Amino acid sequence: MNESIIRLGEPTFGDSEIQAVASTFGSGWIAGNGPKSRAFEKEFSRQVAAAQTIAVSSCTAALHLTFKGLGLGPGDDVLVADYTFPATGHAVAMCGARPRFVDVRPDTWTIDVQAIGDAMTPQTVGIVAVDVFGQAADYLELEELAARHGIWLVEDAAAGAGATYRSRPVGSFGDAACFSFHGRKGITCGEGGAITTRHSAVAAYARKMHAFGIESALSRAESDDLIVPQFDEIGWNYKLSDIAAAVMLVQLERLPELISARQRVANGYAERLSGVPGLSLPAVGPDRTHVWQSYVLTLDPMVDRARLARHLRTNGVQCNIGTYASHLQPAYGSSACCPVSENLFSRHLAIPMHANLTSDEIDRVAAALTTGLKSKETFAVR
Ligand SMILES: *Cc1c(COP(=O)(O)O)cnc(C)c1O
Repeated sequence: MNESIIRLGEPTFGDSEIQAVASTFGSGWIAGNGPKSRAFEKEFSRQVAAAQTIAVSSCTAALHLTFKGLGLGPGDDVLVADYTFPATGHAVAMCGARPRFVDVRPDTWTIDVQAIGDAMTPQTVGIVAVDVFGQAADYLELEELAARHGIWLVEDAAAGAGATYRSRPVGSFGDAACFSFHGRKGITCGEGGAITTRHSAVAAYARKMHAFGIESALSRAESDDLIVPQFDEIGWNYKLSDIAAAVMLVQLERLPELISARQRVANGYAERLSGVPGLSLPAVGPDRTHVWQSYVLTLDPMVDRARLARHLRTNGVQCNIGTYASHLQPAYGSSACCPVSENLFSRHLAIPMHANLTSDEIDRVAAALTTGLKSKETFAVR
């Protein structure tokens, strides 16, 4: 790959992660659900102020197990924030239930609490809010609304590790939260995820069902007796390997440092790009902290996004769309109407955001955007 390409996302790995992997191989337990996974779960619970954590193989697995643990099944409706990576809606559909997509706020791009009431049906059993690009949804209003209707609330905190809302960490709101440690998230082990929950029944369900439906191999290995488990339910294999858990323990320790590096990049972009015609900068709600999993610009309606993207790419700057308007994805056959989300889906542009970006690279990204937006080519003929 061309050395001078500025990547959209990049992990931050060093000697500590490599040491952690080496020591896990040396320990003799590399499969999932072992000592490293246990240690990671304990530390994650402490950091996000959650009663329990279950380490799993992805956020999609986390959402699937959580919904099943909350009793979701065929005939149920779930209100899902429309503007998200479609794994959120997929996990609802994987339970045989129907996602009902709800529009998002035009400023924070998180689920619009006002729009939830209109989408509610007698079959609605829960709400899924999404911490879009690393910014928390309106959890106090959402918790209040869920309690008033007697339905559950789950956070899709895939991009939200380390973010706060009114000084409380993401992952501590609602009935449960689901995190992703995929390569493009703020802390990562390649592929991975976690469930945090205050419900011991949901935690017990997830713990059993993420490992085929039986008690963990570690507790069997630790026993002096020969334990022969019985399979009384059909579970999945959604375990996080202990190799990945060891990496996550290091990444978790570095989380504050990685967040401040991303904050520095966000500040750098804001300085260089404010006032550039053709774009607006992302907004941060006053009562929350953003962890900048992605940095996403909103282009003016007359900007030709595809041409601007081509200009950036030919100048060695990777870019992408923001995320998806779920209701437009054919897999769901949805008839929802979410004009805000649809508009963001067509106008958003994600530019490089990771903890390794240098000030020179931030300059280069800003310069490429500025020259691209000045060119007549990127403005559609009206
Ligand atoms: C990345 C992401 C997911 C999927 O996470 P995986 O760990 O890849 O399954 C789900 N929801 C949101 C909002 C995401 O950003």
